[in-house]
Amino acid sequence: MLTALIAGAGPTGLTLACELARRGVSCRVIEAVPGPQPGSRGKGIQPRTLEVFDDLGIVDRVLANGRMAMPMRMIARDGQVTMRGGETPAVRPDVPYPASLVTPEWRVEEALRRRLGEFGGAVEFGTVLDGFEQSEDGVSATVVRDGGTEVITARWLIGCDGGRSLVRKQAGIVFGGETREDIRMIVADVMVDGLDRDAWHVWHHEDGPVSLCPLPSTGVFQYQAGMAPGQDPGLDPANMQAIFARRSGRTDIRLHAPEWSSLWRANIRLADRYREGRVFLAGDAAHIHSPAGGQGMNTGIQDAYNLGWKLAAVANGAPPALLDSYEAERRPVAADVLALSNALLRQAVEQKSIVARRKANTTQLDVGYRHSTLARDDRDGSAPLRAGDRAPDATGLTTTRGGRRWFDLTRGGHFTLLSFGAAPAFEMRPPGGLRMFHVVGQAAGPGDIVDAQGHLAGAYAATDRTLVLIRPDGYIAMISDAGEAAAISDHLAMFG
Ligand SMILES: Cc1cc2nc3c(=O)[nH]c(=O)nc-3n(C[C@H](O)[C@H](O)[C@H](O)COP(=O)(O)OP(=O)(O)OC[C@H]3O[C@@H](n4cnc5c(N)ncnc54)[C@H](O)[C@@H]3O)c2cc1C
Repeated sequence: MLTALIAGAGPTGLTLACELARRGVSCRVIEAVPGPQPGSRGKGIQPRTLEVFDDLGIVDRVLANGRMAMPMRMIARDGQVTMRGGETPAVRPDVPYPASLVTPEWRVEEALRRRLGEFGGAVEFGTVLDGFEQSEDGVSATVVRDGGTEVITARWLIGCDGGRSLVRKQAGIVFGGETREDIRMIVADVMVDGLDRDAWHVWHHEDGPVSLCPLPSTGVFQYQAGMAPGQDPGLDPANMQAIFARRSGRTDIRLHAPEWSSLWRANIRLADRYREGRVFLAGDAAHIHSPAGGQGMNTGIQDAYNLGWKLAAVANGAPPALLDSYEAERRPVAADVLALSNALLRQAVEQKSIVARRKANTTQLDVGYRHSTLARDDRDGSAPLRAGDRAPDATGLTTTRGGRRWFDLTRGGHFTLLSFGAAPAFEMRPPGGLRMFHVVGQAAGPGDIVDAQGHLAGAYAATDRTLVLIRPDGYIAMISDAGEAAAISDHLAMFG
C-alpha cells in the first residue's frame, strides 16, 4: 500500500514530499491546478526556514533567487524618507542565516519541486482530491483527473491543501477564528517604470499604505495596497495605478502588465486538531493568518519538516505514538504565530502602515519543543540550552576531511549523536542511520571533530561528559551532561 498521499503542492506539501521521498517512503503528491502557479504571495523566508532548506540541499538555489535583509524606504505623509534595515546582521557561529530573505513564493515552490524530482518524485498536476474515507488500516481517497476518477489507498492522507482545505472539512475538524471583511489588501506582481529596485518602497497615506517591493530574480515588483472599507478593491491595472498615484503623490511612476493579482482578506483561524485518525493537516490547512511578519509559509514548511521524519519513522516500524507529538509540538507554535501576526496586523491597521519585519521574534529561530514528550535532559531550568531547543550550528570545526561547520556534518535528515567526552559505549548496537560525532584533540577517524575555537562546546554549553542526541529536524531530543549512554539508548527506542 502507498504510504502517504499528500493533497496540495504548495510549499507545505512539497516540503513534506521531499522529506518522505529522500527517506525512500512511497508517496504521491496531487495538486488541483494544472501547472505551477505564478504569484509572489509569501515572499519572506525566515532564517529558520533557510536552515531547513540547507538541510534539504536547496538553500543555495533559494538564496540565488532572493535578497537578504532587503532595506525598506518608508515615505511619510509629509514626504520625509526613513530607511529601515538593509544591513545584514553579522553571521554568528551558531546562526548561519542571520536575516530573512525576500524571494517570490513561486521560486520557493520551483526549488522544492526540482529537489523532489532529484529524489525521484513528481507533482501530479490537474489532480483534484474529491473525497476520502478512512478505516483502521488506511485511507481511500477519490481523485479526479481529466474527467476520470481514481481511488488511491494509502496509510496516511496529509491535507496540505491550503486555507479552504477539503481534507480539514471532510475530517470534521473545526477551523476556529474569524474572517475580517473590513481588512483587505490588493496584492499584485507588476512591472514598474521609473522606480529603482534598491529597496522596498512604502508610502504612507491617510487612506492606507501602498508599497512596491522589488522581487529578486524577476523584473517585477510586488504591489500591496491596504483597502479602507468602501474603497474600490478592483484588480484592474487602472485602479491599481490610481490608488498608487493618490497615495504616493508620484505621477512619474507607471505600473503595468500585472502578472498576477489577488484580493487578500484577513482570515485568522486555527484548526482545533491537526489529526483525525490517519488524516493529518499541515500549513494553511491548519492555520491561517495575516501576512504581517511573514510567518505563514514558514510555519507550513516547518510543520512539514516536523511531520515528515515522524511519518517515515513510523512507516519503518517506530511506535505509532510518535505521530501524536506532531500536533502537540506544532499547534502551540501556530497559536503563537497567530498571536504575533495579529499583533503586527493590528499595529499595521492602526498606523496605516506596513510593519517592518526582522524582529527577533519573527526569525523562528527560537521555536522549540521543550515541553514535548520527545525532549529529555538532565539540566536545570536555568540552562541556556535544553532538550527541545533548536540544535545550534557552530563554525571552526576540523575533521579528517578538512574544515567544516556543524550543519555541514548534520545535513541530510538523520539522527545525530554528539559526544564531548569519552566515546559512548552502547550495550546494544545503536540504530542504523544514527550519525555519531566525537569531539577530540586531534581528528583521526571519520566521526572525529576538533573544536579548536570552542564554538561547538559553547553553543551546547557542554561539559567534558556531555552527550547530545539531535533529531532529524534539527531539534535536541536529549542532553545528558552525565554522559549516560544507556539513557540515550532508551530514548532512541521511541524513534524505532
Ligand atoms: C499577500 C500574501 C503575502 C504573504 N506573505 C507571506 C510572507 O511574507 N511570508 C510567509 O511565510 N507567508 C506569507 N504568506 C502566506 C503564504 O502565502 C501561505 O502561508 C502559503 O502559501 C501556505 O502554503 P501551503 O502549502 O500551506 O498552502 P497553499 O500555498 O495554499 O497550497 C495549497 C495547495 O493545495 C491545492 N489544493 C487545494 N485543494 C485541493 C484539492 N482538493 N486537491 C488537490 N489539491 C488541492 C491548491 O491548489 C494549492 O496549490 C502570504 C500570503 C499572501 C496571500
